[in-house]
Amino acid sequence: MQKTRRQCSAPFEILEEDLKFYDDVSPVIGGKKHALPPPRLCPDCRFQRRLSFRNERFLYHRKSDLTGKQIVSIYASDKPYKVYDQDEFWSDRWDECSYGRDFDFGKTFSEQFAALGCDVPHQALFTTNVENSYYTNHTLNMRNCYLLFGGGDSQDCMFGRFVIFSKDTLDGLSLYSCQWCYEGIASQECYQCLYFMNCRQCSDCLMVEDCQNCKNCCLCFGLKGKEYCMLNEPLGKEEYERRMADLRPLTTEKVRLLRERLHGLKARLPHRASHIFASEDCTGDMIFNSKNCQHSFDATDCEDCKYLCYTPKGLHSYDCTYNAPAGVQWVSEAGSTVGMTNAFSTFLCWYGDNNWYSRECHSCSNIFGCISMRRKKWCIFNKQYTQEEYERLVPKIIEHMRKTGEWGEHFDPSLSYMGYNETVAQEQVPLSQKEACAKGWQWYVDQEKKDAYLGPDVTIPTTITETPDSICDQILRCEVSGKPFKIIPQELAFYRKLGIPLPHRCFDQRHEDRVALRSSRKLWKRNCAKCQKEIQTTYAPERPEIVYCEECYLATVY
Ligand SMILES: [Zn+2]
Repeated sequence: MQKTRRQCSAPFEILEEDLKFYDDVSPVIGGKKHALPPPRLCPDCRFQRRLSFRNERFLYHRKSDLTGKQIVSIYASDKPYKVYDQDEFWSDRWDECSYGRDFDFGKTFSEQFAALGCDVPHQALFTTNVENSYYTNHTLNMRNCYLLFGGGDSQDCMFGRFVIFSKDTLDGLSLYSCQWCYEGIASQECYQCLYFMNCRQCSDCLMVEDCQNCKNCCLCFGLKGKEYCMLNEPLGKEEYERRMADLRPLTTEKVRLLRERLHGLKARLPHRASHIFASEDCTGDMIFNSKNCQHSFDATDCEDCKYLCYTPKGLHSYDCTYNAPAGVQWVSEAGSTVGMTNAFSTFLCWYGDNNWYSRECHSCSNIFGCISMRRKKWCIFNKQYTQEEYERLVPKIIEHMRKTGEWGEHFDPSLSYMGYNETVAQEQVPLSQKEACAKGWQWYVDQEKKDAYLGPDVTIPTTITETPDSICDQILRCEVSGKPFKIIPQELAFYRKLGIPLPHRCFDQRHEDRVALRSSRKLWKRNCAKCQKEIQTTYAPERPEIVYCEECYLATVY
């Protein structure tokens, strides 16, 4: 079946297997199935829509609406929402059902859901079991972490996103089990590596990519089990160490030149079409130990899924993003939803089942149109019903939503509490303020924050050896955005230990640089540069890289 996209108007396919999925995942209420129609938006527009709800790293100082205490939150103080700090949210000092209301069949679901959202309290941040890690969000089990967004079970890590089971690691993006690493992207089990991407089990490497099980390598691409290599050539220990000594101390300029040389090397070498390991019948990138997952990214231990992103343990689910650590089963259109079975259109619903069109609900089952509920059952628009009443009323609301065209569609981005520019959607599908507003989506302008820093210029020392402790007292200016930033003492100690020059860019800019370096979360069809077989890859057809299918890559490189 061919459908037309509503936002971008190019055709996309809905296959027989997709129709079967939508039938399987349709809610069964009171023994009757309420069929979900196939989506009206293409997968890319659906991805953008889900992302438009998640503000990960824009934090603001404000007051708690329960106690007046100063708190840190993803909601700026001029937003029209009630915001409670974590411990207040989880206390019994308020009752979410006191905001309950009858469904009004004279209005759309969306307008009533937006009104409920303005009345019900929301959590200031999404953190669980964090110690001395207040300036983090979407984090779990963290100690002494700072400006880290997404991730868990890490300590002494700063500046990054998705840093998991790691220690003493700075400026990372999607790192698992790394220690003493800096500027790492999409890598696992690396130790003391600097400026690296798509690497596994490497140690003491500098400016390397797509390397596995390598030690003491610099400027290498696509190596496996090598030592003392530079520009993919084995040099022997002595020569390698001599050349590395010449490189030290590192300066920002040397790092820039190293990156250029690595790009020069990469241009001549074949790239693997996608990073899919120990998996069967999968398409996408960064897939581990999975089976039959299509168009999926950063997926581990998943089966029979489509359009996943940052999902471990996903089963029979479509259109799910940010579902770590517990995954989803029989779920569709879920953003930041974790440990969920049977759900459609949820945002930030954790550990529950049969959650429909709800957000920020925890350990709930059989809820419809609910917000900020804790351990509740049989609720509609935060109002408590008996099971029989619930099973009678929900089908009527579904019928109403069919008429208004809302049934089967995820929340529209206009229902997001965040400006589009505050959300992760802006990283993947950047829009201008004018473009976002033309679609009826919000845009946030922070009236209090001055973007450009107008104070005196501080010269950032060239090498770490000549950097004094007093640099931590000064305000530095980002060389790209002009925004002010500071170096904190723990950060300076880290740079000193690893011999890294101070950054010349602020945290936000460094994050954006890493996102830009990483491959896109999109798939294109092109042909293997060697055997011409059709492949699906994150390298767009017009990109200059030499891209091989997995078989040709393994036969050539290893
Ligand atoms: Zn091939």
